Amino acid sequence: MIEVKALHKSFHGKSVVTDVSFAVERGEFFGIIGPNGSGKSTLMKMISGVISPDGGEILIAEKPIGSYSRKALARLLAVLEQEALPPVGFRVREVLEMGRFPYQNWLGEEAEDPTPLIDEIVGMLGLAELEDRTLDQLSGGEKQRVALGKSLVQKPMLLLLDEPTTYLDIGYQIQLMDIVRSWQKNTQVTVVAVLHDLNLASLYCDRILMVHKGNQIRVGDPRDILQSSLIEQVYGTRPIVMEHPVHQLPQIILQSGT
Ligand code: ADP
Ligand code: MG
Repeated sequence: MIEVKALHKSFHGKSVVTDVSFAVERGEFFGIIGPNGSGKSTLMKMISGVISPDGGEILIAEKPIGSYSRKALARLLAVLEQEALPPVGFRVREVLEMGRFPYQNWLGEEAEDPTPLIDEIVGMLGLAELEDRTLDQLSGGEKQRVALGKSLVQKPMLLLLDEPTTYLDIGYQIQLMDIVRSWQKNTQVTVVAVLHDLNLASLYCDRILMVHKGNQIRVGDPRDILQSSLIEQVYGTRPIVMEHPVHQLPQIILQSGT
């Protein structure tokens, strides 16, 4: 679904992404982890076509990203990022309807009525009671669900999530990740998620890319990536890594400095 080859990006002469190469299979749940400022969002913005790389190649569904029109790319991929929502005056339902823009003509009409799809997503995300509220009347967690809803309404083949669980408490974190995973099982969408929380990354990702200062450190399954020595090398703190008693996946336990 995605092939990234020797990607480079610099800002003002400073290299932010240096020689990153990986491929994501169709239907995969692919995670990206790394400390603050390690180039994760920059990488995601290149994959979504928002910014161009200085070097390297990005293929989406086997074609160079530059060969897609803006609307064609929006039918292929949707992005959930912290700045994804429009100004506060819009109502939840209106925001979800905006997700259909890649399928609309210049009159805002589309060939098939999207109402059943939007209703399905409203139900799945528990947004029914919020539909008529404006965005400023929502909590952080509710806004995040609306932003996810807008991405899903786009019916993408590729869903890009940049720190989707930031500001969410543990209940909403699991709820959001479960919704994404069940949507993925139903629609075969490919998911690429930048995740802050290494334990969530372990529980949900088929494979993980670890980056540090713009460099690719390793790509592999959660067991290959969540190793205490590697985490110490990249994050500067050494956690204890244990196997989750139910899911048999690595989970980290933080240690205080003394
Ligand atoms: P992450 O998402 O891993 O926290 P980012 O990709 O947002 O990291 O940023 C990586 C580095 O690139 C940071 O040092 C950031 O300040 C810098 N950076 C990101 N975007 C720009 C930009 N548009 N102009 C200049 N520097 C930028
Ligand atoms: Mg970021």
